[in-house]
Amino acid sequence: MADHTHHAADVPQLALNSGYDIPQLGYGTFKVESAQAEKFVLEALQLGYRHIDTAALYGNEEGVGAAIRASGIPREELFVTTKLWNDRQSGDQPRQSLQESLDRLGLEYVDLFLIHWPAPANGQFVNAWKQLISLGDTDTVRSIGVSNFLVEHLEQLHAETGRLPAVDQIELHPRHQQREVVQWCQERGIRIEAWGPLGQGKYDIAEIPAIRDAAAAHGKTPAQVVLRWHIQNGNIVFPKSVNSSRIRENLEIFDFELSDAQIAQIDALDPGDGSGRVGHDPRTAN
Ligand code: NDP
Repeated sequence: MADHTHHAADVPQLALNSGYDIPQLGYGTFKVESAQAEKFVLEALQLGYRHIDTAALYGNEEGVGAAIRASGIPREELFVTTKLWNDRQSGDQPRQSLQESLDRLGLEYVDLFLIHWPAPANGQFVNAWKQLISLGDTDTVRSIGVSNFLVEHLEQLHAETGRLPAVDQIELHPRHQQREVVQWCQERGIRIEAWGPLGQGKYDIAEIPAIRDAAAAHGKTPAQVVLRWHIQNGNIVFPKSVNSSRIRENLEIFDFELSDAQIAQIDALDPGDGSGRVGHDPRTAN
């Protein structure tokens, strides 16, 4: 861009139950090491991404923070999420962990702070949620939420605190659609963030006829069709890529629309028995 300013792409904003808005598309950073994050997060910001998803676990918060500073984009135009790792859920460790993340990011606040996994065997996620509720009342956190929570975990949070999260960030892609937790959240105003939106590349979306045919019909790639399917279903997504042309490709999904029939064909791809899951089981992951 000739004037060296970077313009936000035309990404819809969704309202959260906290009163804040979130850009429906962002950039994910799982398995992007810190030096790489510095390069590719900056590239994403220059292309128009304004929402970055990271976590203490990813080991790249320094790189994410460096990219944000290098971009020169005003803080209030960005949406930054980080997460509390499973071994920091007890006592006041969540508060300490948040401060460490803020220090690594070089930020005064995060837009969204999530409990990364319920890790139910540890018996600490309700404590962590109470800590996040009080952090949400400070100026270090704008919105609070959870990740990988199933209905049973959400019901426990609600029963013990009366407070629902702004989002649940869950594994969600064509072969694993998690309809039970999605419906529970939709009925209660909790936004769904879909992690692994492309199935983490663990199955070939380009070989699935419903996806391949829709891509051909719209002159788009299979990844763009799958991301567009998420957007039209109301999911928040942040595909990860360390390839410049794919980072750009993943942003170019707001200039076409899948038909109801094309959506329905992708909706039908979940085998329905849980065998499409590519990540850990939230009931047992620690
Ligand atoms: P994704 O579904 O985003 O898939 C990433 C893979 O797809 C990479 O191998 C990438 O390769 C490839 N890819 C990206 N864009 C394209 C494209 N246009 N065409 C073809 N291949 C493509 O998986 P993630 O696990 O990264 O999920 C996204 C984000 O969700 C994470 O980065 C993280 O922020 C979050 N997440 C959260 C979890 C949680 O427990 N809360 C768990 C896992 C992820 P390449 O880089 O070479 O382009």
